[in-house]
Amino acid sequence: MQTKDFIWAEVQKSLQKNLSKPSFETWIRPAKFSCFENGFLTLIAPNLFASDYLRKNYCETIEKAAEIISGEPVKVVFKSDKSINNDEINSKKTKNESLNISADHSSKNLTKTLNKKSKFTPSLNLRYVFNRFVVGPNSRMAHAAALAVAESPGREFNPLFICGGVGLGKTHLMQAIGNYSLEIDSESKVLYVSTETFSSDLVQSIRKDGMHAFKNKYRSVDLLLIDDIQFLEGKEYTQEEFFNTFNALYEAGKQIVIASDRPPSQIPKLQDRLVSRFSMGLIADIQVPDIETRMAILQKKAEIEKMNLPRDLIQFIAGRFTSNIRELEGAFTRAVAFASITGLPMTVQAIAPMLDPNSVGVVVTPKQVIKKVSEFFEVSAEELTSSSRRKPVSQARQIGMYLMRHGTDLSLPRIGDEFGGKDHTTVMYAIEQVEKKLSSDPNVASQVQKVRDLLQIDSRKNL
Ligand code: ADP
Ligand code: MG
Repeated sequence: MQTKDFIWAEVQKSLQKNLSKPSFETWIRPAKFSCFENGFLTLIAPNLFASDYLRKNYCETIEKAAEIISGEPVKVVFKSDKSINNDEINSKKTKNESLNISADHSSKNLTKTLNKKSKFTPSLNLRYVFNRFVVGPNSRMAHAAALAVAESPGREFNPLFICGGVGLGKTHLMQAIGNYSLEIDSESKVLYVSTETFSSDLVQSIRKDGMHAFKNKYRSVDLLLIDDIQFLEGKEYTQEEFFNTFNALYEAGKQIVIASDRPPSQIPKLQDRLVSRFSMGLIADIQVPDIETRMAILQKKAEIEKMNLPRDLIQFIAGRFTSNIRELEGAFTRAVAFASITGLPMTVQAIAPMLDPNSVGVVVTPKQVIKKVSEFFEVSAEELTSSSRRKPVSQARQIGMYLMRHGTDLSLPRIGDEFGGKDHTTVMYAIEQVEKKLSSDPNVASQVQKVRDLLQIDSRKNL
């Protein structure tokens, strides 16, 4: 006859196939079988946090898998292994009654907490708190780990390494750990720095006082949050010193949280010993959010700013900006600004043209394009349509051609005509040039955006 723990072994096998490796290794594998009686499967998680996390996120999945294996309805019960953990957290709770363990704190309370603390300036952004972070399937694990680290620094996952693409919330999550730790314990020494600051502090301190100030600053903290660690790439000396700082803090049981745009093993020219240190705790990644999560993020932003956005507009914006939350938020802000400048209602119909990343916004006439480009670049319309090769003129002309291509439905030869009879290959070349520069030259990108903005407002007035 099979022993009772057979059921958990089988459930684990089935979950291993269906979950990502980090999720499985972090949450499912460490959970131990306790008993299976009267349809109740009791599991022991290594700590209170893990049992909580399993209950919230894997209860149904485990029950379903267990039902298939045992052929009867199953309820799963999670217990935590360390009752000490439990008591400690509870005593912290009573020590500070305002503390809400779900991290649902207002930034007002937080400001008070931070004001009380004067000796250590944590340079944290007060907007980056857990209750402003929308959790989706893309960030569930990173969020849970961040919360765990804030609640019991130096114990659960050390270091916590958060990685993910640009604008996906790494800095937000990392600073939320700092803000929340300070709320739990206002005496805690939290330090948030970018890798560049770390590096320049090091260089300065070597010059000034033989690293005394540097060591003082970095080795006395309880929680070190270090952002964009990918910039350690190739910086041999900074890597050396980061290794020492890491070891000193780690050995003293202090928490280290690292953010990077890629996993440790993919950072070029990073010493192997750092790669292995970074992989010692938990590597939690943030993926691109799905449409529901993006909508929830916009909804949250609207609530915070006390704006009432119709659902279809939220859906529209979330559908347009898919891979970067900073851009998603930017689109929201532009939509709100646009509506308030033009007095147009916040509807998809009114806002959509201005958010379309591939068009000038609204259909404009070739004359408007020439006029705005010439005003903006302070180049006369005659010069724009001449064959002058003066750099500022040809640059403005190229941007004009690009905008005319996107803002009107003119063919390439017709655009050539508008610019004083240029050949269509010249127009094509100009557009390609601008497209290239848009992704490589922030100056050009901002000029194009500004003229676009001028054109949008201009043509709205003419409606
Ligand atoms: P990263 O450091 O990964 O480049 P940030 O943390 O700076 O990204 O996030 C960019 C912007 O998006 C910030 O304003 C942040 O508040 C917001 N943001 C990112 N993720 C979320 C989220 N899950 N919920 C709410 N806002 C988010
Ligand atoms: Mg960042």
